[in-house]
Amino acid sequence: MATAAKSKLSAFDEVNIFFDKAAERLDLDNGVRDLLRQPWRELEVSLPVRMDDGRIKVFHGYRVQHNGARGPFKGGVRFHPNADKNEVRALASLMTWKTGLMDIPFGGAKGGVQCDPRAMSEGEQNRLTRRYTQSIDPIIGVNQDIPAPDLGTNSQTMAWMMDSYSQVHGHTPGIVTGKPVELGGSVGRDAAPGRGAVYVMNEACKDLEIALEGSTAAVQGFGQVGSWTARLLHERGCKVIAVTDVGGGAYNPNGIDVGDLLLHHATVGTVNGMPGTDAITTEELMELKCDFLIPAAIERAIHERNAPKVKAKVIVEAANHPTTPEADDILNDRGITVLPDILVNAGGVVVSELEWTQNLYQHQWELNRVNEELKKKMTSAYAKVREVVGQKAITYREAAFLVGVGRVASVVKLRGFI
Ligand code: NAD
Repeated sequence: MATAAKSKLSAFDEVNIFFDKAAERLDLDNGVRDLLRQPWRELEVSLPVRMDDGRIKVFHGYRVQHNGARGPFKGGVRFHPNADKNEVRALASLMTWKTGLMDIPFGGAKGGVQCDPRAMSEGEQNRLTRRYTQSIDPIIGVNQDIPAPDLGTNSQTMAWMMDSYSQVHGHTPGIVTGKPVELGGSVGRDAAPGRGAVYVMNEACKDLEIALEGSTAAVQGFGQVGSWTARLLHERGCKVIAVTDVGGGAYNPNGIDVGDLLLHHATVGTVNGMPGTDAITTEELMELKCDFLIPAAIERAIHERNAPKVKAKVIVEAANHPTTPEADDILNDRGITVLPDILVNAGGVVVSELEWTQNLYQHQWELNRVNEELKKKMTSAYAKVREVVGQKAITYREAAFLVGVGRVASVVKLRGFI
C-alpha cells in the first residue's frame, strides 16, 4: 500500500514554497509575507478517552487557525495517524488560499487528531469527538471558527461535534458544516468536493481539448471525495479504469461500473475484490496511461520518485496537497497539466459556506439551488485562474496561488493592522 513519501521538508514547508512563489510575484512586503506565512493561532490538546476495554487512552489533537483576515476561520477536522502539527498547519494554510481564491468570506483553519478511526468503535469515536470539541471550544464559534469533515471524519462526526458544542452554548447548527441534513446540514454538501472537481474538469477539458465523455480516469481514494468524483465522472461517460483505497484496488481497462463499485464498497468496506476487475496497487495506479489521474486520498501521493513515471495527461488534485513541490516541477517539465487542490476540491468549502448561510437564516435550500451556486463559483474561479495562466504564462497552481494570496494580502492591508 502506498503511503505518503518521506520528504526532508514538512508538508507545511512545502505549501509555503507555493506561497513564497506567489508572494514574490506579488512583490509583497516582507512583514506581510511573514504574517501570511505563519498561523495566527495554534491549540494543541491532549484528549483522554475511555476505550471500550476500560483503558484510558490519551490522543493528541490540534486546531490551527492560519489566517482570519477575510472572515471566520474555516477548515475540516482530520482523524488520521499522521495528523501531526505540521500537516495540520499545511492544510490550514491551504484553506486560507482556497477561501481567498474562491472569494468566500472565510479564513483558513484545520484540525486534526492523531488516531486511526478504522480501529475504533463508534462509541470510542463519539467520545473522542466530544472531548476534542470541548477542548477546542474556547477558540471556535459561529463567527470565529467553523469546523467541517475531512479525511477520517464525516457527517456523523459533525453531528457529534454540534451536539457537544450545543450542550454548552444552546442549539447551534452553524458551529460546524457537513452535518446530516436532518440537523441543519445542506443538501449537496456530501457530494460537493467531487461535484466541484467535475465542474472544474468540465471547464478544463474545453481548454485542453479533451472530451470528458469517452475519456479515462484513475482515482486514488474512494471516500467522500473520491467516490463522488468517480460516480459523477462515470455518469458523464468518462471511463473510470482504476480505483484504490486502503484495502486494495480495482482495475478494468474498459471502465468500472461505479454504481456497482459503490454497492460493493458498501458491502465489504473496500474497492478491493470488485467482481470483473483485477487487483491493482496505488503504485501501479499512479503509472497508468489515462487522461486524468485523480489523487483523492492523502497528501504527498505524487512525489519525486513516481512523478517521472506518471503517464496521465492531467492531474486533478481532489485531495489536499497530493503533489510535492519536487513532483510538481517534474510534472510541469514533462508537460503534464496539474489542476491544483485549492481550486479542484474547493466545492467542499463553497457548499460549507452555503450551509453556514442557511443556518444563520434558519432555512434550507433545495438541491438545484445549491448545485447552481456551486457551479457558478467553480466555473468562475476556474475562469479567473485560466485567465491568469494565459496572462502570465504560469502554471494553474501558480495562478491559483497568485489569486488566493493576492486577495488575502489586500484584505490584510485594508484592515490596517500591518
Ligand atoms: P475519507 O476519509 O472519506 O476517504 C479517504 C479515502 O482514501 C478512503 O477511501 C481511504 O481508504 C483512502 N486512502 C487513505 N489512504 C490511502 C492510501 N495510502 N492509498 C490509497 N487510498 C487511501 O476522506 P475524504 O473526505 O474523501 O478526503 C480525501 C481528501 O480530500 C483529503 O486530502 C481531504 O483533505 C480532501 N478534501 C476533503 C473534503 C471533504 O469535504 N471531505 C473537502 C476538500 C478536500
